[in-house]
Amino acid sequence: MRAVREDVRNVAIIAHVDHGKTTLVDAMLKQSGIFRWNEKVEERILDFNDLERERGITILAKNTAVRYKNVKINIVDTPGHADFSGEVERVLKMVDGVLLLVDSFEGPMPQTRFVLSKALELDLKPIVVISKIDRPDARPNEVIDEVFDLFIELGANDDQIDFPVVYTSGKGGIAKLDLKEESRDLRPLFETIIKYIPAPSGDIEGPFQLIVTTLDYDDYIGRIAIGKVVRGRIKAGEEVAICKKGGSIQKFNINNIYQFEGLRRVPVEEAKLGDIVAVSGIRDIEIGETIADKDNPEPVDFVEIEEPTVSMT
Ligand code: GDP
Repeated sequence: MRAVREDVRNVAIIAHVDHGKTTLVDAMLKQSGIFRWNEKVEERILDFNDLERERGITILAKNTAVRYKNVKINIVDTPGHADFSGEVERVLKMVDGVLLLVDSFEGPMPQTRFVLSKALELDLKPIVVISKIDRPDARPNEVIDEVFDLFIELGANDDQIDFPVVYTSGKGGIAKLDLKEESRDLRPLFETIIKYIPAPSGDIEGPFQLIVTTLDYDDYIGRIAIGKVVRGRIKAGEEVAICKKGGSIQKFNINNIYQFEGLRRVPVEEAKLGDIVAVSGIRDIEIGETIADKDNPEPVDFVEIEEPTVSMT
């Protein structure tokens, strides 16, 4: 049975380093109502990895989620560099749209070209976010023209070129659809995501399939596989089949299923089509493998690491 998950949106953020991604996601988290009044926002969200900080590029795809009205918005980070093209593909396969974040002074930068070209190739819906609009040197109109030129150059289709634009200041916690408009919060950004990013859809009653995009490790719960449910549903504790890369099948009982809520993983009873979840209890699992129904273990076709198709110059 085909279902549309109107209560979920899955988006990836594409941004050049320093264009304000972390600050904006921080602000979205603060406003999404996930944090109780006495809860401190932990340091920075997306760039807690020291190695990443050192190298100034995002190495690991991280998951976070915000709630707006009755919709859960899963936000996944994309590695901004073509060296991680395999990971870029995997991350983009989880989402139905992208936020292309561009600094209102600097304009589009080469690091985001590759990821954007992949997103356009995969026919994902883009929303252009012009960030740091409070900068005194902001030149948003020119920057939009530059983004437009980039879309044309990358061969975007008519629908993609007709992208919605949201102007934001992560620092000020505001978003607006029109520069002349007054704004007090990020609501216009949340509304645009819900309006333009398609809700995930697919077969919700068919045999379960989850494609593993990221692995994590926790001292208490051990190895954690993270990915999107692409078909069916699953309950905590159920037995599943792992479709290994070599073609073999292994059976495991999953322990817990977790959804992302803000920066945390929260245990849930069930995951279904369209959800991005973490599961524990599978000792032997690799990125790119499929967690599947134990009686119908079908692997999801998966693109392995490819050479960049767009030059970085
Ligand atoms: P990231 O590398 O894309 O995650 O960027 P960060 O969020 O870490 O921001 C990079 C720099 O830009 C930091 O010095 C921030 O203080 C600054 N910055 C981020 N958002 C804004 C904003 O909305 N307005 C202004 N003026 N500066 C910002």
